[in-house]
Formats: sequence, C-alpha cells, structure tokens
Amino acid sequence: MSPGEFLIWIRLRRNRATPRRLHLGLTSAAPPAGIIGCMRVLLVEDDTMIGESLREALRRQGMACDWVRDGRAAEAVLASERFDALLLDLGLPHRDGLEVLRGLRARGDATPVIVLTARDTLSDKVKGLDGGADDYLVKPFELDELLARLRALRRRHEGRTRPLLQVADLTLDPATREVMRAGRPVLLSAREFAVLQTLLERPGAIVSRAQLEDRLYGWGEELESNAISVYMHQLRRKLGDDLLHTVRGLGYYAGPAKDAGA
Ligand code: CA
Repeated sequence: MSPGEFLIWIRLRRNRATPRRLHLGLTSAAPPAGIIGCMRVLLVEDDTMIGESLREALRRQGMACDWVRDGRAAEAVLASERFDALLLDLGLPHRDGLEVLRGLRARGDATPVIVLTARDTLSDKVKGLDGGADDYLVKPFELDELLARLRALRRRHEGRTRPLLQVADLTLDPATREVMRAGRPVLLSAREFAVLQTLLERPGAIVSRAQLEDRLYGWGEELESNAISVYMHQLRRKLGDDLLHTVRGLGYYAGPAKDAGA
C-alpha cells in the first residue's frame, strides 16, 4: 500500500461459538484506497452483521449502497430501480438468491451480479454462474478482493479494457485512486473522486445533478441540496476549470469546452 493509504479489511469468519461474524477494521480516518466511487450497488444479505458492515465498508469507498434482507424485497427493488451492480447472497428468506437471479435474467435485466455465499461446493458455483451471475465470491472473503472484482465487472460491463480514465492531460485510475493533472498527482476526497469518475467515464456526455446524487448516495443518506455544486467547485479548484463544465439547467460534463451555441 502507498503512504497514507487507508487500510480497510473485512473478514468473514465462522466458528462454533459465533456462527458468523464479520470483522471490519478501520485504521485511520484518511480517505480509503482503491476507491471505486460512483457505483450504485444493491446488497442482498439476510445476515445483519454482514449486511451492516459491508454496507458501511462500501459507502466508505464512495459507493451508494442500498441493502435489502430477503429475496422478495430484492425482487421488488430490482423491478423499479437500476443499479450498477448487485451483490447477492444465495441463502435468503422468502426467495432463494438463485431464484432472484434467474428471475432477473429471465426479464432480460443485465445488471452485473456477484454472488456472495458460503456455499462453496463446485455444483453451487456452477449453478450460480449458469443462473446468470457474472462472478462468484465465497465467504469468507477479503474486502479488497470484492472491490477488485467490482472494478473488473464494471470495466467488462462498460466494454473497457483499459483501467485508466482520461481526458486531455487529466487521468484517473479507479484501481489505485490516483488522479493526475499534467503529470502531477491531485488529492481528492471520496465524493470528489466519485463525481470526477462519473464524468470521466463518458467524456463530453452531460450528467445531471440528479444522476450524480443517485450514484453517490444510498437510501437514507444525508444529502445537502447543493452538495454536487460544492464537489464541482472543489474539483475545479484542484484541477483547474478548463476541463469541467456546467451546462445550466442540464448538468455537468468533462472534456474540452463545447461551443456555446452547440
Ligand atoms: Ca444468507
């Protein structure tokens, strides 16, 4: 890890005394490393301890993470809302995770899915992947591995092979969280990073404030009405104002300035 990086780990353990426990260690208040940001993730997990810890850990990565605890609730949410990724436990009340997955794919929903489960037999893995999962992670797992898989999933989903996002001399590496402008590193907060990543994923495309809010915040998270404007202000202060633009009433984009009349 590079200096100042924030060490975070999750370990799910099983033993006889405590059937399942998730350990979340936070060793400093600095921004997290390997940040993903601007992903809206639905976590489907019936274990309260795992669910709470994982949601907290993902939110610390700058992701909007929503959490439901059973298969039926997951189906209801997936029918009405869009997510960038689904983290799906298999053993769930009311409806099995595999049924949720098959139903999703049967409806033609291509949301990337990582199955998170303690079922580690070969046939369960095969069933999960054949049921439409994009990836499979067996508990216990390390948070770092989950984050790396989420990044890879996102690259594949977007058809990108190069992990680096770039506009002119501004680059952002989602894996290392490095942002460079004209060859010089720039330090960003988790939310600033998430906003910038969203804009750099589709240079020139206008992203509305509502879209940014949607991808930065989960249900019930506090949100100041001018939060996105504040992040944009900070980003321009740190990166210069020539590559980040506001289109009044529509939103923001990254890239060379377009003609005023365009
Ligand atoms: Ca479960």
